[in-house]
Amino acid sequence: MKPTSASNQSTRPLRMRVQAPRTPQPQAMIPPSPSLSRSGGAQLPSFNDPSENHSSRFASAQIKIPSRQSIALISEHGDPAAEIGREEAGGQNVYVRQVGESLAKMGWQVDMFTRKASPTDAAIVQHGPHCRTIRLDAGPAEFIPRDRLFEHMPEFVDSFLRFQAKDGGNYPLIHTNYWMSGWVGLQIKQVSNIQLIHTYHSLGAIKYQALGSSSQKPASASIRLDVERQILEQADCVVATSPQEQEHLRSLISQQGNIEVIPCGTDVETFHLIPQAAARKTLGFSSSEKIVLYVGRFDPRKGIETLVRAFASLTKNPEDHMPSLRLVIVGGSQVDGVDRAERSRIESLVADLGIAAQTTFAGQVGHDRLADYYTAADVCAIPSHYEPFGLVAIEAMACGTPVVASDVGGLKFTVVPDETGLLVPPQDVSAFAIAIEQVLTHPQWSTQVRQQASAWVQQNFSWTGVAVQLSDLYRRRLAESLLAPSQIRVMPEAALARLSA
Ligand code: UDP
Repeated sequence: MKPTSASNQSTRPLRMRVQAPRTPQPQAMIPPSPSLSRSGGAQLPSFNDPSENHSSRFASAQIKIPSRQSIALISEHGDPAAEIGREEAGGQNVYVRQVGESLAKMGWQVDMFTRKASPTDAAIVQHGPHCRTIRLDAGPAEFIPRDRLFEHMPEFVDSFLRFQAKDGGNYPLIHTNYWMSGWVGLQIKQVSNIQLIHTYHSLGAIKYQALGSSSQKPASASIRLDVERQILEQADCVVATSPQEQEHLRSLISQQGNIEVIPCGTDVETFHLIPQAAARKTLGFSSSEKIVLYVGRFDPRKGIETLVRAFASLTKNPEDHMPSLRLVIVGGSQVDGVDRAERSRIESLVADLGIAAQTTFAGQVGHDRLADYYTAADVCAIPSHYEPFGLVAIEAMACGTPVVASDVGGLKFTVVPDETGLLVPPQDVSAFAIAIEQVLTHPQWSTQVRQQASAWVQQNFSWTGVAVQLSDLYRRRLAESLLAPSQIRVMPEAALARLSA
């Protein structure tokens, strides 16, 4: 196939060199630290869990180790206990759940707060002895699209403070996720002496730039932009998940505020190398087809249309000697949700392009079965218009599958061109087709990519590594807060009195 409007990236022939993955950044090992606790203040976590140490024959001589330090993660719409891959349930849910569970393993007591979005959802889900999801009342217990959620955030703050007062908890550090949770964190910071850490997950500043005309912007757009700036300037630290996001925060949002780069991670025990033949057998896929995979939500910004058009062009080119192809689209949708509309649009497009017989809509797939899909595929495509990080890319690479991804955001950081995949301009159908074809027609290169892509992810993007870095950040912030004077502007008693009034 001849390139038509391909970019430099896509026309560049694959260089078939095999390089060792980049040397991973050294990660500081956190030594067990002495307790800095004081009444009502922060305790740094003990890395020796006393509850797991009863059988020690030195028990009687042991110094009493302080109980775990409680911390709160807030994710107002990304329920960490939710089924992933459905409407508005994606990377953020995975991030919060995995970070929460990994931090609990490292010695913290982790409470993850989200909004109750269904009357049948339990108020508290216990994930382990030291990690739970707590669903708070904030608006009706039903799905509310993100664009209409902000008006319920004052109730979220009230529910959080009530829960904390009732439960007797003390969270000296709160890590918020997404701008609305960040707003919640800023309100809590006004009434209690917390360290506020924030991860954006997505930036209005970028999203609205891409939308262009103001007619498509939600009513909350200007509030969001304002809150995103306040968070960067007033939180104690913002976690950017890639150097690219850090750059955007500085250039588009504010020059003020602390930023640290700590990437997202992946579960390297779930996503690892397994033989492709075994995965195909498990899923019932033919061994003679070349499989192109998409995994993710049905959202126009995910660029599934670009991929479908690129795939169709590959199947239609009579000059090509491509083996038979299959496009597998993984991701769920709600019966009456906005993602249903996008799924129907993609299904119609697939039918119109005459590729229905070669396309499989696999629906929502649990994380435990996803590794088989990544492994069964010859290439995983990530055609997003923009991607702050893109967990799917590292999951696919961890399974040794080459990726063809848009050259945007966090994908520039995680995909090493020619070594773990290819990067092409977003929304460029022709460039995607060429890059996918290059991967499919160079099986020897793909075999070499397998080992190095998987090693690259294992060394740089494990959740354990991410939790070590976050833990280190939390400990530094808590230590600083013990030394710094209190910043509380409203006494908690006054805030609680206001609530019970
Ligand atoms: N996912 C899943 N099952 C599905 C579809 C997606 O578990 O059927 C997961 C996928 O494995 C990934 C997350 O949803 O961990 C999507 O994260 P990503 O950062 O790629 O996209 P986002 O949803 O944050 O835009």
